[in-house]
Amino acid sequence: MIPPGSTIGIIGGGQLGRMLSIAAAQLGYRAHILDPHEHPCAADVAARFTRAAYDDLDALRELARNVDVATYEFENLPVAALDVLGAKLLPSTRSLAIAQDRAREKAFIEGTGARVAPWRTVSSRDEVEAAIAELGLPIVLKTRCYGYDGKGQAWIRGIDEAGAAWAAIGEEPAVAEAGVDFAAEFSVIVARWANGRHAFWDSPQNEHGEGILRRSTVPCSEPVAAQVPEARAATLRIAEALGHVGVLTVEFFASADGPLVNEIAPRVHNSGHWTIEGAVTSQFEQHIRAICDLPPGLTGLTRGGAVMDNLIGADANRWPELVETRGAHVHIYGKGEARPRRKMGHVTRVVR
Ligand code: AMP
Repeated sequence: MIPPGSTIGIIGGGQLGRMLSIAAAQLGYRAHILDPHEHPCAADVAARFTRAAYDDLDALRELARNVDVATYEFENLPVAALDVLGAKLLPSTRSLAIAQDRAREKAFIEGTGARVAPWRTVSSRDEVEAAIAELGLPIVLKTRCYGYDGKGQAWIRGIDEAGAAWAAIGEEPAVAEAGVDFAAEFSVIVARWANGRHAFWDSPQNEHGEGILRRSTVPCSEPVAAQVPEARAATLRIAEALGHVGVLTVEFFASADGPLVNEIAPRVHNSGHWTIEGAVTSQFEQHIRAICDLPPGLTGLTRGGAVMDNLIGADANRWPELVETRGAHVHIYGKGEARPRRKMGHVTRVVR
């Protein structure tokens, strides 16, 4: 067990690192952020900040010396560099390596017996045409690496759109995925300990716009709830196959054939932000508990449920009205400029 008073390294200083640092501080840990930016928003609430590139081996070795355990808040990180953290890094680089390449991720998920939408890899315009012939239309192209929040994605709805879509994703190695006619989207969020112990939260139903999460609602609707048991079983198989320690999020489509995995995130997730006020133990605190090997906290609802809305870009300018709204828990990430599509904060309303 890593006791309070110890230092937790966090690779990445965005809003997830910020909320992890706050949870760590509550339990008496010191957070040490490593991030290449000048003013990452997590550094404002952390005990220490090292400004360094994610592939700076000297900085990573120095971090390893200064922390008792380390974790990461996003997956677009160089696996070989993070390997210098060795066993101090939880979840391990295995979870990272699988989650950061969509082709490896899908093959891995299928290997655990869970289902994904029909897909194939594409690395040329000809292969895009072949994917259309094989999978039908519509399909979505997603770059294998470095995609997030709908970036690196392009839909093909008519055969004449193939060239434009291939150009739009930068002619990068990609997966072509059949469009899923889903009734809803939801996620399963689990925390897993090294000894295999685990705890789920209620599954949020998630609404996206332009590829970005807009709203998560707990409890989910009845048709989604019917798919949660199968989705939880799939999530647990994935977590076990990864040997994952910490929070793992699996995003699902509720399709007519049951739950299909969209993607996995080896970390705390935007669709779990409601747990800060809506659950007895938040995803952030539970992640700290799992990587420090403290006992699990309870994950039940504090009230009847919760609705979390993201504040994206100019939405954050609504803060004066939101802070006046009774019962609205307003979180502003302190990121500065409210650029379009940038996640600036979120607001959670706990339902009675
Ligand atoms: P992703 O970045 O893969 O999570 O995709 C962002 C969003 O795009 C998803 O949450 C869905 O709303 C939509 N999307 C992605 N892939 C598919 C698909 N195969 N079929 C239908 N919608 C999709």
